[in-house]
Amino acid sequence: MTTATAIGIDIGGTRLRAARVAGGVIEARASADSARDPAIVTARVLELVAQVRNQTCTALGIGVPGQVHATSRAILSGGYVDLSGFDFAGQIETATGLPVTLENDATMALLGEAEYGAAQGQRNVVMLTIGTGIGGAILDQGQVLRGRGAAGQLGHIGIDPQGRRCVCGKIGCVETTSSGTAFGVHLAEAGLPADTRAEALLNNPDPVAQAVIRAWAAPLRAAIDTLIATLNPDAVLIGGGAGAAAHAALAQFPAAESWFCAQVLAATLGDDAGVIGAATAALKNRTRKRAVFVNGVPASGKSGVARALADATGWPILALDTVKNPFLTILPPGDRLFNRTLGRASYAAIFDLIAEAPANTTVIIDAWFGFQPLEVLQCHIARAGLTDIAEIWCHAPPEVIGARYAARLGSRPAGHPGADYVPELIALAGRATPTHLAPRYEVDTTQAIDATALTDWLSKTL
Ligand SMILES: [Zn+2]
Repeated sequence: MTTATAIGIDIGGTRLRAARVAGGVIEARASADSARDPAIVTARVLELVAQVRNQTCTALGIGVPGQVHATSRAILSGGYVDLSGFDFAGQIETATGLPVTLENDATMALLGEAEYGAAQGQRNVVMLTIGTGIGGAILDQGQVLRGRGAAGQLGHIGIDPQGRRCVCGKIGCVETTSSGTAFGVHLAEAGLPADTRAEALLNNPDPVAQAVIRAWAAPLRAAIDTLIATLNPDAVLIGGGAGAAAHAALAQFPAAESWFCAQVLAATLGDDAGVIGAATAALKNRTRKRAVFVNGVPASGKSGVARALADATGWPILALDTVKNPFLTILPPGDRLFNRTLGRASYAAIFDLIAEAPANTTVIIDAWFGFQPLEVLQCHIARAGLTDIAEIWCHAPPEVIGARYAARLGSRPAGHPGADYVPELIALAGRATPTHLAPRYEVDTTQAIDATALTDWLSKTL
């Protein structure tokens, strides 16, 4: 099974971007001009999806500007691209057949940066995206702060009651002083050419240049100070198209010594943060059914590994022997062929149970997966509806495996192969291989089981 991917879409005022993303890495990308008309935006997004989609795509995430009620996927306000009141997620879902996750665009950028960018591993993060407007999003204890549904509109923090009127209807929002658009306004008021870049003014001692930088960055510093005092974050991230310039400009206005402090970092994923975050959110949101294959030949130490994993995670173990042993006990004794037939049926039963299990179930399967052809396993995986698999390959020196098998002969139900199987098992252990169908973690079962390392790996893999 190849790793599931998702398509991330970023709806911007200028560009529409799409990317196919796996594990935070962009595998394919496409973009088109943005438009005001929702019908044109929808048609262009569907074209972009067709360009990047392949058979690994299982979900689609979209970041849109403005207020978004994420759980109902309702778009509550719009700017240049006005999708408010339009069932954008529903239309894309119907047309593509992929489950759609919809969030505010800055929220998607924050999710991307928190998973793979500048805020990796941090759980309390504030993000400001400086572009045409100022977007914002807040991660609190690892969760997006939502309020009544659309919290985090940080561009509308008031910094000047005597300031300009904002598109939102209020006066003096930080978006009116410190967005990319506002930078253009400051340039015009200072009589500087419209194509002047912020970087060109930063180290320019000219008082006019410095006044433009002050008018742009000082209110942003005030808004950041307010956010730090209010939310006590691990970090404040500055991203968006003008984010790097804004971050550099902020350095000229360091925070005053105060009770409140937090690091202010430049985002690192650039324009890709939105699509990476959207795909990441979509992958996390989709309905999943996950299995950990604890694989290895008989007596390779699988059961101990499966038990340690179950104890650490609470996931149930579906072991081939657990299904098979009651039949071996109750039915009259059979030969080797009978044992193998029961094994095949038990193997199928495990995947039948998974097929019947509710969505978002995770199970541990303890079996020697090599006793049946790989094609049989692939059919079982598809039938069970498994979306994510990880494999734990249990191994030990073949002689150790043979000795373990011989030692437990007396405690197994009649019907399992006897002592004459030991040389065959040793030979099998020497040539056995994992399924190669999923990301793999190897466990040497002659060593103590490190359940923490195992669960850490699984949390990154599944
Ligand atoms: Zn506003």
